[in-house]
Amino acid sequence: TEPTAAPTQTTTASATLLDRASRVIPGGVNSPVRAFRAVGGTPRFIASATGPWLTDADGNRYVDLICSWGPMILGHAHPSVLEAVKDAAAQGFSFGTPSENEVKLAEEIVSRVAPLEQVRLVNSGTEATMSALRLARGYTGRDVVVKFAGCYHGHVDALLASAGSGIATFALPDSAGVPRSSAGETIVLPYNDLGALEAAFAERGHEIAAVITEAAAGNMGVVPPAPGFTEGLRRVTAAHGALLISDEVMTGFRCSASGWLGREGVAPSGAPDLFTFGKVMGGGFPTAAFGGRADVMALLAPQGPVYQAGTLSGNPVASAAGLATLQGCTPDVYERLDTVATAIAGAASEALTAASVPHTVQWAGSMFSVFFRDGEVRDYDDARDQDSAAFRRFFHSMLAQGVHLPPSAFESWFVSASHDDAAVSHVLDALPAAARAAGT
Ligand code: PLP
Repeated sequence: TEPTAAPTQTTTASATLLDRASRVIPGGVNSPVRAFRAVGGTPRFIASATGPWLTDADGNRYVDLICSWGPMILGHAHPSVLEAVKDAAAQGFSFGTPSENEVKLAEEIVSRVAPLEQVRLVNSGTEATMSALRLARGYTGRDVVVKFAGCYHGHVDALLASAGSGIATFALPDSAGVPRSSAGETIVLPYNDLGALEAAFAERGHEIAAVITEAAAGNMGVVPPAPGFTEGLRRVTAAHGALLISDEVMTGFRCSASGWLGREGVAPSGAPDLFTFGKVMGGGFPTAAFGGRADVMALLAPQGPVYQAGTLSGNPVASAAGLATLQGCTPDVYERLDTVATAIAGAASEALTAASVPHTVQWAGSMFSVFFRDGEVRDYDDARDQDSAAFRRFFHSMLAQGVHLPPSAFESWFVSASHDDAAVSHVLDALPAAARAAGT
């Protein structure tokens, strides 16, 4: 059926806020992708959110397909998480001493991810990867790290080379301000290319402390590991005494109750040495973690010589939110995520096909993205070879019809278990007009 004409949206309040913000915050935002630079237009300032719906400062409502870039797996302001946060906050906000909530959250994480023996809680995914890297360097006594082009691991100096979405969106080769010495200790290889990995290790294997990879890439759009890639990473790193760090900040507790590796079914012998987590495990609050083998984790201060710390690490309110979120992630939640993602991705593909717009949908569990190009995307070069102008038209048509997609062609779309049939229908109704706009 023909969708009804988009209601005219007023964006005066968002525009006024952006103007105020731009005076006191660089670019008016506290994280670059929020600025809409890749798609143009006025970023919406969100005033409130419940379930699958966002309401902006002008009172416009949108079905949310960003979900805070992953954390809001149960939907916004989920009642059981809200209750846990209120209860924890009533007991005090931060103690600077150990407290039980952080123990409960660590126990929950360790119990879900079989190869994990210990975790340390930190405040962001960036801190998690930065600390995992320091630990790997401390453990091996080596300095070099291997990462894959298009994988993003936060804004860690050594990991900002070819770092996917944020940087791809702005067409920056790399960030300014990263010391040459730091970038020089990073080897960037194409994702899904074991031959390139073997060649790098043949040449510099004795210098390499770790290989870090997104368990399934989500920051160049969704690019799952090709069959055998994860296994190959384990084999090559083990052969050369380097650690394997699996970054599950985005995929952890989203792709399955444990994460991507749980979904892929990696054998215990194929497990990485270290993991990083964030997003879902904080339920929308700033908490994240890194962890792995106990003999490696034993090197961390106060037991060992690798220093790592944080005033707010293991914050009791954030830990309570994370724990309530993980406890809410029951099997029917994962089932619902799959159902919603399948319905939306299927309808998007159908609408784009009907409008003759070249596209490819790719999956990692319930994470998916729509590349505006034909053919499989296996690495960052493939991902960049797409029609971002078509995405821009598609994005704005969806936004005008009350669906908020990630404002970049290089991002996963995120759904929540609170996306009920009404929210899904709202998205499906918007797709045909957006697909036609993309094709113009
Ligand atoms: N690692 C991955 C795979 C991510 O997707 C992200 C954020 O998008 C990070 C690390 C960094 O996390 P944060 O933004 O919490 O610092």
